[in-house]
Formats: sequence, structure tokens, C-alpha cells
Amino acid sequence: MDPGPLTLPILLLGTTSGGKIREFRQLLADLPARLVTPPELGIDVDVLEGERSFAENAAIKARAFHAASGALTLAEDSGFVVHALGGEPGVRSARWGETDDYGAKNRLILERMADVPPPERTCRYVAHLAIVEPDGRVHRRCGSLAGYVAAEPAGSGGFGYDPIFWLPEYGRTLAQLDPNEKNQISHRARAVRDAMPLLRALVARLAGRPTSS
Ligand code: IMP
Repeated sequence: MDPGPLTLPILLLGTTSGGKIREFRQLLADLPARLVTPPELGIDVDVLEGERSFAENAAIKARAFHAASGALTLAEDSGFVVHALGGEPGVRSARWGETDDYGAKNRLILERMADVPPPERTCRYVAHLAIVEPDGRVHRRCGSLAGYVAAEPAGSGGFGYDPIFWLPEYGRTLAQLDPNEKNQISHRARAVRDAMPLLRALVARLAGRPTSS
């Protein structure tokens, strides 16, 4: 019997960040789900993030977008952690430096790091994912990437702090990597890789298909 046209379950990406959406679309390309953004569902949610932790903020975002849609929802809270700056910008990465201009944010970080010698310029990106099932159950996954704060910005790929995120093993900043290269190693890629078995199982259940895992 012809099962009719295959309708893919919806996975809502609970974010309005163009940079994140671009990367999630690539990282989740193999998931048999229709990835949708809040505007595509006519959703406009103003999420008030806290200051405590990436994990808590990810759950706040995912719950808010799930409450507005009822859909399987994936949200992320991520940030740039610079050890010589006491962990700043950290959970405040998007709001840090009182400006939305990343050229200015990156310059400010480099100014504050002017006297910090190379071995002490360690930093990392952190990504915490929260996945909310249609019935409200929440799952968490995370990933991180270690690097160094560059001496000066370089590259035009990626987004945000990527031009000053130096990877010694590549001899380049994240903004100088090809998007495919960044998506092999990034904090977001690692978190998504960790979440993939769960996402596959949830999507299969929503589609009424048996899971292989
Ligand atoms: P959120 O949208 O509240 O999670 O804020 C995440 C912020 O962390 C972004 O706005 C950037 O400032 C920074 N960030 C997280 N991931 C990346 C990345 O892959 N590249 C550059 N900046 C990032």
C-alpha cells in the first residue's frame, strides 16, 4: 500500500540568531525533520535570559519557544569564555560590551588583553542545548571548543567572536576556517553530535517510525 507523501516532523530552532540558524541547518542536515525558525511558525517570543548559567538559559529559551508552538524544540545558549578576563563575556556574550557591533566587542577584548602574554590567552566557546519534547520533557546536551584569543582579528567567516578565536592547530582563527571546517570542530557541532541519537529517536517517534537505535 502506498503510505502517501512523507511528512517530516517539525523541529523548531528556538533562536533568532542568523549565525546559529545557518550552522544548525548544516549540522542537522541529516536529521529527517523539517527545521523551522520562529518567524516561519509566526512566533515572536521575547525571552528574558538569566545571568546564572548557559544550561539554565538554554532551558528558558527552549521552554519559551515550546510553550508558543507545542513543537519539538531545540534551543541553545552559548558564549565566549576568556580565562584572563575572569570568564567574561561568558553568559553575557551577546549583551557584553554595551554594543551589538562585534567589531567593537572584539576590539574591546583585545584592548583588555593587551598585556596578557600568549600562553595565558586561553579561551573557549561553550554551547548548551536544551531539547523540549512536545509533551514538555526537557533534555540537555553540551559541547565546548578550546582556543586562544588572537593578537588581532582575522577572517570574515563565522560570526560574533570568531575573528579573534585562534586555533593553534590550524594556525588560523575560526573566522578564517571554511564553514564546513568550523562545523566539524565547533562547540555547537560537538553539542549537536552528542544530541543526535536523542534527536533521531524523538523525530522517529513523532513520525511513527520504529527507531534503529
Ligand atoms: P546567546 O544567543 O544568548 O546564546 O548568545 C550567544 C553569543 O555567544 C553570541 O551572540 C556570540 O556572542 C557568542 N557565540 C556563541 N557561539 C559563537 C560562535 O560560534 N561564533 C561566535 N560567537 C559565538
